Amino acid sequence: MMTDNVNSVRKLSPFLLLIILIAFILSLSALYIAVDSFINQSGALDAYSFLAIGFGGLAFSTYMLLQTRGKPMHAVLVLPKVVTTLECPKCDFKNIRDFKREDYIFKETGPCQKCNETMTITAIYREAKKKK
Ligand SMILES: [Zn+2]
Repeated sequence: MMTDNVNSVRKLSPFLLLIILIAFILSLSALYIAVDSFINQSGALDAYSFLAIGFGGLAFSTYMLLQTRGKPMHAVLVLPKVVTTLECPKCDFKNIRDFKREDYIFKETGPCQKCNETMTITAIYREAKKKK
């Protein structure tokens, strides 16, 4: 039996998490190398490059982490409402209702509220976001 996997979308991908972790560790290492060569005045290493790589990597991994953490919430918030437009071919009466899973364009649905003629689905679309 298949289990409902809707919730799995909201979980963080372990692969992505690993990449972020590696980027984070590499950035810290680069920063460490940069600081170390500054302190020791070795000059053998380009400390500024390592410093840039370190900060860049830290910024990248932080950004990625925030992105992945923010996504599920974001997706829920902007989930658009899908509506179905029904039209009567006889009297042009239009009716808009929530989209149902079985809906498809040109499908014949229930009778017209005005003339009892079978209505046809003419459009399925996302309703525009409402401004609060
Ligand atoms: Zn009608």
